[in-house]
Amino acid sequence: MAARAGIVVTGTEVLTGRVVDRNGPWLAERLRELGVDVAHNIIVGDRPDDVRDALGWLASAGVDLIITSGGLGPTEDDLTAAVVGEFQQRPLALDEDLEGRIWKILEALTIRWPDLDEEAIRRSNRKQALVPAGATVLEPVGTAPGLIVPPREVGPPTPGRPTPTIVVLPGPPRELQPMWRTAIELDAFRAAIGGATVYRQHMLRLFGIPESEIANTMLQARAAGIDLDALEITTCLRRGEVEVVTRYEPPQQDVYDAFAALVAEKHPRELFSDDGTSVDEQVAGLLRASERTIATAESCTGGLLAGRLTDLAGSSDYVLGGVVVYSDAAKVALAGVDEGLIERTGAVSVEVAEALADGARAALGADVGVGITGIAGPGGGTEDKPVGTVCFSVSAGHGSHPPNRLTRRLVLPGGRFDVRDRSTTVAMHMIRRVLRGETGG
Ligand code: ATP
Ligand code: MG
Repeated sequence: MAARAGIVVTGTEVLTGRVVDRNGPWLAERLRELGVDVAHNIIVGDRPDDVRDALGWLASAGVDLIITSGGLGPTEDDLTAAVVGEFQQRPLALDEDLEGRIWKILEALTIRWPDLDEEAIRRSNRKQALVPAGATVLEPVGTAPGLIVPPREVGPPTPGRPTPTIVVLPGPPRELQPMWRTAIELDAFRAAIGGATVYRQHMLRLFGIPESEIANTMLQARAAGIDLDALEITTCLRRGEVEVVTRYEPPQQDVYDAFAALVAEKHPRELFSDDGTSVDEQVAGLLRASERTIATAESCTGGLLAGRLTDLAGSSDYVLGGVVVYSDAAKVALAGVDEGLIERTGAVSVEVAEALADGARAALGADVGVGITGIAGPGGGTEDKPVGTVCFSVSAGHGSHPPNRLTRRLVLPGGRFDVRDRSTTVAMHMIRRVLRGETGG
């Protein structure tokens, strides 16, 4: 049986969505790598009662380990260490050595702000050096130390249920992440997760297929005698792609291989990644391997595709640049689209998408050009070109040879955000096909 863990992310700013939680998902992934099942991720505000309730609830759910993030700073609303100490029935005591070490860190800061009240800083510093009895201190990465607080002591004199081990980490991700790496090496941590089974996890990615088709393939797998109960399969639809994530114990490798082979056999065109790589990574790899360069001319996506192409480090090796040609005049001036063509076909047409792709390629001297033009909405739709209509073209070629080209007109579902985001995904997949020489069909 795998150890089970709960995560408690504290912070009113995270609860309200002002700050997006980067710790819960990150910790969940790290725990999974260690073979620990994450049962719950709870977000609470900076209120002691709410933090206490979250701990109490997770303990009653029977988790072996709780990780908390946030609330370790010197200010009034930073109360996690005190709440956790009380929860584990371990009184806080001042660790004078730790106080000295924190002071050394703060001293360096007071030199930068000489007007600060040193006494006030010393007082709040003392608060951060209060350690629950029996806890292991994790040295500060910023100014706040973390803690591993062992379970409540239960025995004949102190009745009650044992509690989970609680690992207390600071909120800023740049502090939490290095401290986590230190924490997992310590005996106090290892004791809590016991001999956890290390699971394997693999991801298949498909494009151009509804999620229901995967459900169907799973039925066929069962019918073919593949023991899917030995696997934990989750499918999720994300940015227009279907991700199939499978987790299993190492002895079930053959079952997974059979399942993955069946998916590949049923969906040869749609399955584009069997090792979890994203289409973005594949496009980068293909451009790099063939030493080709790319340029974009975008209308309705306003540069989102260029942004996505340049998300990966090292993209300057193959991305030459792009133009945002929102108005007709910009399409003519910057991407060399014929004004008469726009008049004849409208700015949203496959012909204009092709002219944009060729224009981007010519303007920047790139090997591959991408053109996108469409109606993201909510206004601007017509009967023949409803909101969500987007025309795409990818052209690749050298010199005077006719370009190797792929052009599509689609009607994408959703609101403005979805149409624009989905357009970048469609374009990425079209680029991938052109780079692989798959322009037919
Ligand atoms: P500090 O000493 O900085 O106060 P702390 O442990 O008290 O550390 P918090 O006060 O909870 O941490 O958070 C400090 C800042 O760290 C937040 O304002 C936020 O910018 C960032 N942060 C905290 N929690 C998260 C989170 N879950 N995801 C992303 N950022 C976070
Ligand atoms: Mg704080």
